[in-house]
This record gives sequence, structure tokens and C-alpha cells, in this order.
Amino acid sequence: MNKLERINHPLKQLPNGDWLWVNIFRLSSGLTGPNVHIQANVHGAELQGNVVIYELINWFKANPFKGSISFIPFANPSAVNQKTGMYTQGRYNPVTGNNWNRNYIDFMSLDEKKSGFSLKNFVKENLESSEEDVRKKFKLELFNICDHYQNYLEQRSAAPEDGHFNLLLQKIASPSDIVLDLHTGPIATRYLYSADYQMESAVHFKIPYVLEIPSEFDGAMDEASFMPWVELSREFKKQGRDFLNKFEAYTVELGSEERISFNEAKLDANCLLNYLKHKGVHDVEIGELPITSSKKSLLKDYKTYYAAKGGLYEFCFAPGEVFKKGDVIAKSLNFKTVIDNESFSNAVSEVIAKEDGVVINHNTSASIASGQTLYQVMENLQTF
Ligand SMILES: [Zn+2]
Repeated sequence: MNKLERINHPLKQLPNGDWLWVNIFRLSSGLTGPNVHIQANVHGAELQGNVVIYELINWFKANPFKGSISFIPFANPSAVNQKTGMYTQGRYNPVTGNNWNRNYIDFMSLDEKKSGFSLKNFVKENLESSEEDVRKKFKLELFNICDHYQNYLEQRSAAPEDGHFNLLLQKIASPSDIVLDLHTGPIATRYLYSADYQMESAVHFKIPYVLEIPSEFDGAMDEASFMPWVELSREFKKQGRDFLNKFEAYTVELGSEERISFNEAKLDANCLLNYLKHKGVHDVEIGELPITSSKKSLLKDYKTYYAAKGGLYEFCFAPGEVFKKGDVIAKSLNFKTVIDNESFSNAVSEVIAKEDGVVINHNTSASIASGQTLYQVMENLQTF
């Protein structure tokens, strides 16, 4: 039986003096292998990842593996506890209005005064070091950058609560080789965000849909985790050496928000375990998996249908369902255009699909104003 330990990090002191904590559950094999960081529930209503973490801890307690693995369920206690009536809000920080998953820090773009680090000098000093050595030293540098930047902000009383939260998770993740950020959509199927350079590994999740995103920074945890490593290999290239970037980070979308399923979590955990097997974390054959091959789309083919008019909407296609160009994908009801018998039929209108695609997610509510999201869909799907 592998030993589970819990580490507590203070996150935020509340006005009454109480503290919010981030709890890390850690299993260490004592063997050389990848460090894995898995966090869930950064968006308050996206709950399924916590159950998947429960299943994974259960598995890793009992099975042999290499390296170490850190789990952070309920990674954002501010968000999960933010309720309005029966609903969990928690996608945006109510104090700052910021999306909790768009405020991570792009370490490599910080100037040296803020980071205490120069990528150019680091590479110059390590041109002759072994790849393993470079990885070890770079992880340490990432940890130090978190400390340095935090001190820089604190000295200026400039550490906003978003920034502190995001920086803490980045600091905890800094020694990792693999980062998995577990989310859900609104009403959604299962899908995965993967950077272009990771696509060969992404297939091992056996998750039905994969969105291929460019290796660029846009504020999310996956990007904040992989971009320093992407920049590191770019800088090596510039200075005349090929450096293999083995680091990987993904955002894994586990169905719909505001619900959990223990049964589905077993299957979700199997997907993650199958991927981790591919990455050399363990070598146990994973039996039950949802699919044999995934479909992918490029980010440019991930399209949003916004409501052209306000009204009540029926979604004619469920997440994961395929539709054809010309299909009626939604019907809406709005009485504003009705003034007499003749115009009564105008109360109902249809939303027509512009291209072939598959529904990835749709709005949680039927009551939608003009300009708000109806569906997010993938087009130009390819099997891979
Ligand atoms: Zn999310």
C-alpha cells in the first residue's frame, strides 16, 4: 500500500480572521519517474474532477507506480463555496470579475526584476548540461521565480487575490513533469485541450474530442504550465542546441457542471490512468476505456453559436451529438413580434447549423439574451 500524505497551504485570510486552505494529497513511490500534478474545481461549479481525484487516489494507493503524484481537489475554495440560491457561481471571481482560469502568470515574459530569472542566461550556462540536468535545474528556477515574483508583489502591496491564488497553484505545480487541470463545460460532453506539440500523447486519454490549441499563452493553467518549457526549447534552438520538451499539460473537460457521478468518475479515472501509463508513470494495463479513437479539431474550428435574439431556447442536439449543415439545432420562443393572428407564428424561430459539426457544450439555461452563448461546437473534425 503506497502512503498518502496531506499538505496544507494557507490560501487566503478572510475578513473575520479565518483562513481558506488548499490541501494537497501526495503519494510518492520512492522510485525515479515523472512528478504529476492534478488539480480540480478551479471553476466553482465544475465538480466532477474532485470525484475523479478520489478514484485516482484510490488507485494509486494500491498500485505500483514511478515518481510522485500530487492531487489538489477543491483547488479553489473561494469559488466552490460561492453559492446563489441552489446554484454555484464560481467561474469568475466576484470581487475582481476575472475568470479564475485566465490569470495565471506568463513567467517567461516577466522582466528580470520581477522574476529574478533570465532564460537567455540560463540556457547559455546550460548548453553543455545533460537534458535531465537541465530539467531538474529549470524546475528549481520555476519555483524560485514564483517566490521572487510573490516577494516583488508583496513589497509593493500589489498582490491581488486572483494573482495570489494563481501563483500559489503555479508554485505547487513547479516541480511537475505533467499537469492535468480538471474542469467541466456547462452542459457538455467530455473533451480535452491539448497543445499542438502534445497531440501524440493526447490520443492516449481515449477522450472522445480533442481541441488542438497553439503553443501560446492565454492565461490558463495548462498554458502557464507548458509555455515556460516551450520557451526553454525555443531558446535552446536559438543558441544552437536541440532540447526535447517532455513536459505536458492539459485541460481535461469532464462533462457538465453542477453534478457528479461516481460511476462516470471510474471511467474518467481510467482515461487519465491510460495516459499516465503512456507517460511511464505506471505499467498496469487499463481495461475499461470509453472509446478506441478520438476526433480532433483545431482551435480555429471551435465555434460558438451566439443567440441572434433573446428568448427561451430548446436545444435540439445534446453534447456529443453530430449535426449536419442546415439542421435545426435550436428553437426559440419570443412573443415580442406577435401583435395579431397573422404574426402569431413569428413567436417561434429556428437556429440553423452553418456547417457540419458536433456539439461540445451548450448553455445551462433555456433563458438566453441576444449575444449570449447557445452552443460551442467543433467543425472540420478529423480522426487521429
Ligand atoms: Zn472550467
